[in-house]
Amino acid sequence: MGVTEPTTGTDTTRIKTTAVKTGDRYVVNGQKVWISRVQHSDLMILLARTTPLSDVKKKSEGLSIFLVDIREAVKSGMTVQPIPNMVNHETNELFFDNLEIPAENLIGEEGQGFKYILTGLNAERTLIAAECIGDGYWFIDRVSKYVRERTVFGRPIGQNQGVQFPIAEAYIEIEAANLMRFKACQLFDEKKPCGAEANMAKYLAAKASWEAANACLQFHGGFGFAAEYDVERKFRETRLYQVAPISTNLILSFIAEHVLDLPRSF
Ligand SMILES: Cc1cc2nc3c(=O)[nH]c(=O)nc-3n(C[C@H](O)[C@H](O)[C@H](O)COP(=O)(O)OP(=O)(O)OC[C@H]3O[C@@H](n4cnc5c(N)ncnc54)[C@H](O)[C@@H]3O)c2cc1C
Repeated sequence: MGVTEPTTGTDTTRIKTTAVKTGDRYVVNGQKVWISRVQHSDLMILLARTTPLSDVKKKSEGLSIFLVDIREAVKSGMTVQPIPNMVNHETNELFFDNLEIPAENLIGEEGQGFKYILTGLNAERTLIAAECIGDGYWFIDRVSKYVRERTVFGRPIGQNQGVQFPIAEAYIEIEAANLMRFKACQLFDEKKPCGAEANMAKYLAAKASWEAANACLQFHGGFGFAAEYDVERKFRETRLYQVAPISTNLILSFIAEHVLDLPRSF
């Protein structure tokens, strides 16, 4: 999914990539950043502005989504620049220089793309929540096993409540996140509005997995930093979800403004 741009970040309605209709094609110019798995995908959903921001009543209007055949696009008009990064995740910068897309590849109605993207993101939020919950259980399993076995001061470190409590706390939070995840999934499957639940599930799950990661690393002591234990790798990986695919702050802002009806900040 090609949404994020380097100069606009989370302020998606201000994206600068444009798609201009010329005959039976759209011509795309602009740039995207952090676009994942391009090198492992055949198709990409691309968000671009089809009507200038100055010509629309609402800033969320005038954006459209397109299905891009990646194999065709890289032959002319789209350049892919991989971004080396902290996690084992293939992600890229994309440059569009007069990329031509057949007009029939427009998804839905022109100008309504932002709405479609938001709906699609509810599925992504619950998916990421599930990923974080899986990570969380992995950390809890690993650390519980380790602290049962690791003996210091003549007893298992897991016998100390100072060690038990952060692990128990993270476990409770993962279980709670799991409930919210299933609530969001159920609403999504019933085709009911689920924006709040999907966002809350992602928030809770990302937070819980990060706390589990912290406890897991902490109670592995020095061994937590050794690559062979995988803890440091998973620790880095699960940290991502505080920032992407949506930052924790933006979820808090969504809940404050759209669920609690507090004044809008942007
Ligand atoms: C590994 C990785 C993979 C990704 N894959 C994809 C992908 O496949 N497709 C895609 O389109 N994007 C992808 N992204 C982009 C990702 O969705 C964005 O990085 C994320 O939404 C945050 O946007 P940003 O990086 O532009 O941060 P910015 O918008 O610059 O924000 C930076 C920080 O500032 C804070 N902030 C910003 N605005 C506010 C505000 N109004 N109130 C309070 N705090 C605020 C937040 O804490 C945020 O973390 C990926 C990113 C990463 C790191």
